[in-house]
Amino acid sequence: MDELIPEDEPCEQCGLCCRMFGPNITPTVPNVYVWMEQGRTDILRCFIACMEKSGPINCADLKPEDLGNVVSVEMRNPDTGDYVAVCPFLRRVTKERYLCGIHLVKPDMCCTYQPWIWGETYFNRCRGLGKINQSGKWQL
Ligand code: SF4
Ligand code: SF4
Repeated sequence: MDELIPEDEPCEQCGLCCRMFGPNITPTVPNVYVWMEQGRTDILRCFIACMEKSGPINCADLKPEDLGNVVSVEMRNPDTGDYVAVCPFLRRVTKERYLCGIHLVKPDMCCTYQPWIWGETYFNRCRGLGKINQSGKWQL
């Protein structure tokens, strides 16, 4: 979802994709590095890094030299370490409109999520995809 929507942007900011898939997003190591550089502990603490040579580490405790051993990054509740039911960065701004609270530095996976583009992640409940289908303009 984008905060600033260009006129031809199909996303209607309904938030459904974030509500359904948000807890399973897997940021890249470069995403984590950017958050480290920017001191975004508020974001880092919501993820754990699964390491090649040790057990999982909360991303807020990672050092830049650890990044080469990161196998994957997963979202967790920073207080309990449990899986989360909803992405903690999702913000409801009206009854039917949601925004991403970390839009400018959100994970690559969220930036490239465009169900209305042929060959990209298919999500038939996406309103943006529905809009494109109705107009007969499936984006290639
Ligand atoms: S489901 Fe589609 S329209 Fe709704 S927020 Fe996600 S991308 Fe946008
Ligand atoms: S980080 Fe932002 S765009 Fe990604 S799932 Fe969470 S609320 Fe949605």
